[in-house]
Amino acid sequence: MIIVMQAGASRADLDHVVSRVEGLGLRPHVIVGTERTVVAVVGDERNAAAGGMESLPGVASVLPILAPYKVASREVQPEPTIVRSGPLVVGGGRIGVIAGPCSVESREQIVATARAVKEAGATGLRGGAFKPRTSPYSFQGMKEKGLELLAEAREATGLAVVTEVVAPEDVPLVARYADVLQVGARNMQNYRLLEAVGRTQVPVLLKRGPAATVEELLLAAEYILDAGNRQVMLCERGIRTFESHTRFTLPLATVPWLHQRTHLPVVVDPSHGTGHANLVESMAAASVAAGADGLIVEVHPDPKAATSDAAQTIDLPAFTRMMDVCRRVAAALGRDIG
Ligand code: PEP
Ligand code: MN
Repeated sequence: MIIVMQAGASRADLDHVVSRVEGLGLRPHVIVGTERTVVAVVGDERNAAAGGMESLPGVASVLPILAPYKVASREVQPEPTIVRSGPLVVGGGRIGVIAGPCSVESREQIVATARAVKEAGATGLRGGAFKPRTSPYSFQGMKEKGLELLAEAREATGLAVVTEVVAPEDVPLVARYADVLQVGARNMQNYRLLEAVGRTQVPVLLKRGPAATVEELLLAAEYILDAGNRQVMLCERGIRTFESHTRFTLPLATVPWLHQRTHLPVVVDPSHGTGHANLVESMAAASVAAGADGLIVEVHPDPKAATSDAAQTIDLPAFTRMMDVCRRVAAALGRDIG
């Protein structure tokens, strides 16, 4: 349920509501909006009706939250969440662009890519140090050495580092280096991992599982929010369908659908979403046109030589061209990119 506080409610009124909610064995999430402060109450609400919340001082009304996801829902927070990490701003009319290789491979590769994508307008640097690979025999990433190289690239450029964490026990290590923790598609429903990233205050990029519904994506985000981390971005990266001309099918209706139901920003990944370098620019532009709050794109100085996802990786000039097109689409819609 949502407890809506009166405009003139005092801090003591709010604290009282919070302690009553906790006394019922439920968890209160206080959301201070521009218009109103609400307390989203989550947990098993079966005995909450007995709480008599309506009559507490400072309470304006008590409403049910109709969506199965609660803290993620627009009903609870009408204003968009803006995720910020250094120069990377995602949401609220700003389109953040995260670019870089699928995997960190060497100092030269990551630093050269970081400098070039920054020059072209990216504000975030991606690069996997821990790679979830379909085959156990594929390159699994440089692990901590890769994180160190990402930190060097940040030092050189100021870009925010976005990198994947694949296991709950790795969260403290990856969080020491990363500005944004990426939870990959294969881990979208790894609930222990979601809770572990939720216990940090590091922003999270949560990718949609290739066989997950958008409602399941929102419920996965809810694990992170409920654990206390509100800086969550959702990422559409394509789903598995019968279609085989692209690696995955990239459904862009996800973007406006999510915007209608959640305040969390939505990022699109046209690289994994298509699997083909020559489709990335068009789908990046289409994502911006659909209202995406951010893009995450695989870029490499020499895509043919990339150790992972070579076929979908664009080179540095192609990234500059992509940014030019996206900038024009964004401008036409009155939004800023980068
Ligand atoms: C990646 O970003 O390189 C990646 C592994 O993506 P996904 O989890 O979407 O497959
Ligand atoms: Mn990849």
